[in-house]
Amino acid sequence: MSVLKIVLLGLSLSIGATAAFAADEALLSSKVSQRHLIIEPQLNLAGAKSNPIQVALTLDACSGDIDHRILDVLVREKIPATLFVTARWLRRNQAAIEILKAHPELFAIENHGAEHVPAITVLKTMYGIPTAGTPAAIETEVKGGADKITEIFGTQPQWYRDATARYSTDAVRQIEGMGYKVAGYSLNGDRGASLPAATVARRISYAKDGDVIISHINQPKRASGAGVAEGILALKKKGAQFKLLRDIPARAAPNVVSETAPPNGSVSQKENKTHSKTKTKPASAEPAPVSVQ
Ligand SMILES: [Zn+2]
Repeated sequence: MSVLKIVLLGLSLSIGATAAFAADEALLSSKVSQRHLIIEPQLNLAGAKSNPIQVALTLDACSGDIDHRILDVLVREKIPATLFVTARWLRRNQAAIEILKAHPELFAIENHGAEHVPAITVLKTMYGIPTAGTPAAIETEVKGGADKITEIFGTQPQWYRDATARYSTDAVRQIEGMGYKVAGYSLNGDRGASLPAATVARRISYAKDGDVIISHINQPKRASGAGVAEGILALKKKGAQFKLLRDIPARAAPNVVSETAPPNGSVSQKENKTHSKTKTKPASAEPAPVSVQ
């Protein structure tokens, strides 16, 4: 072997090794500082830049029921989706579970916690929901969600999204330390299943390449769900490719909501002010709650 070939071989091996040990861009721990108090991570598919566009559809099942307007479209049109489910939701939706189990190629089941508790230790409530408060409570919440998923589906969740998609930064480190990637989003489709159907359909149909869409699949009686189904169909018509979060590299940014502790258990007074200071904006510029009970 010539010297040149040996050098080239060595070079390619070192490049391969560098790529293999490159930091996972979906992880947040190295991107948050001690200063950061609460983050609402932004997540995009990494390096999508494709035509047609690639998006990831993520649907939360917090509690409540199953929205067949959405689920039936996904099954009929063979559209993959990442579902974030709680143990609480799994306990009361056996019929929906059977449908999800029948289509493992379409549905990735990920962890939304045991009882839908925000992974926050530094505030008492978020959007009016009592937070976990302690690392021990966060561990119980995360583990409780994972155990139920494994019991029912026989799979290990890889992603975690808490109740409000907001986290104290110590909680992010803890959850990533438990082996999860923390699931943010870049496009808030239904704002906690609170928006009218036409608005939801328009927002989702305008998804850009690399967007991670968040909406809800557990509120069949609200108008939003019809818009989720309509928006998904519009995206498919445009030729969009739907990817599961676990199948494609993603890139997360902290999106700092609050840098200093507010006096009384809520960041609502501070968030607009601090939002304007942060470099990373959420795709939905309004302070939009993503939680729904
Ligand atoms: Zn939820």
